[in-house]
Amino acid sequence: MNARRLALLGATGSIGVQTLDVLRTLKAEGYPLSVTALAAGTRVEPLAAAARELGARAVGVGGPDEARAIRTLLPGDVEVVHGPSGLEQLTRRDDVDLVLNAVVGAAGLRATLAALGAGKLLGLANKESLVVGGELVRALGPDPEAIIPVDSEHAALFQLLQGVERSEVERLWITASGGAFRDLPPAALAQVTAAQALAHPTWQMGPRITVDSATLVNKAFEVIEAYHLFAEDWAKIDVLLHPQSIIHALVELVDGTVLAQLGPHDMRIPIRYALTHPARLGQPPARLPLGGQSLDLAPMPPDRYPAFHTVLEAGTTGGTAPAVANAADEVLVAAFLEERISFPAIAEGLDDVLGRHRVQPADRVEAVEAADGWGRAEARRFVERAR
Ligand code: NAD
Ligand code: MG
Repeated sequence: MNARRLALLGATGSIGVQTLDVLRTLKAEGYPLSVTALAAGTRVEPLAAAARELGARAVGVGGPDEARAIRTLLPGDVEVVHGPSGLEQLTRRDDVDLVLNAVVGAAGLRATLAALGAGKLLGLANKESLVVGGELVRALGPDPEAIIPVDSEHAALFQLLQGVERSEVERLWITASGGAFRDLPPAALAQVTAAQALAHPTWQMGPRITVDSATLVNKAFEVIEAYHLFAEDWAKIDVLLHPQSIIHALVELVDGTVLAQLGPHDMRIPIRYALTHPARLGQPPARLPLGGQSLDLAPMPPDRYPAFHTVLEAGTTGGTAPAVANAADEVLVAAFLEERISFPAIAEGLDDVLGRHRVQPADRVEAVEAADGWGRAEARRFVERAR
């Protein structure tokens, strides 16, 4: 097998650092994978250290200041690029076969489009690419095997659907832990703090996705992601509450059979699979102790997670609505983490901003980016009014 050559975007984040860990174990196992390029936003020291350790040929950073700073930390023959066009450049390089997109937010979209447009394999953690730009990604008509999802539920669906005829699928289910506040009475939610929201019951993740897991906005994003990856019909995708986060997804077939994918809640498992697919390699970071493990599944409660329904409606509406939902959510989550708005105000702000959005077709990246800018500005106004 030829060695795969990787560009890892978002190398300093939660998924990025876990990917570096997987790369170290793959290297120790002698697996043929080399790292051509690494990129991140602002934290140049850890990025430069990883680039030196892995012998990267190129690095990308957020802007010109970071580019100047990292230049002094790297050997002279390592190329330094910056900004959104820098990410695109890294993905298109001839010496890259596989791009792992672990950037957070809509900033990941252009890299996703560039990677697929250049015929690269894409390991996709950046779910926002599909949330805001799903229609653009589909318009590229990528080979269904070219995108290997890293998000645990979608990695599970990807594996479950191998060898299954689409006409035999009755329904796709993804699971949700219910987030940090699943056991609180709704009246207590107005008082919860950022620190409490960041304590996810089962997964260790970046700050935005952890708060999105408490509002279940993350789950609405994941339904949208599943729609663009695997389904043509919104009615065929559903969510189950599953507090143990052991079953990641289920596929119900027309004959009543239900297939489920289970695994430890450790993102290094889907990351490793995205890097080595279709091969499966040993030495997992954890194994599931199945004996004595209880598995609870429950339907989504209708009223507890208002932001889930608002964002899902934006997804089914399509066009620029999901881009506005994502942008507004990013601003509202940041305001909540800075203790400028309450936790329930995240859902209220989404409802307010989306209620005023005039949906346009999302047929160009520029249309998506304009909607993103509008959603951010409107959410900032909501935050000002809410204070
Ligand atoms: P994070 O905030 O921990 O890391 C984000 C990374 O993106 C950092 O390296 C940051 O420097 C980089 N970045 C941000 N803006 C950038 C820009 N403009 N240009 C270049 N780099 C930029 O986030 P995370 O939790 O690792 O999540 C990354 C993605 O993976 C998100 O889309 C998230 O929804 C998805 N995801 C994460 C998990 C998880 O367990 N953390 C699970 C499933 C899916
Ligand atoms: Mg997920």
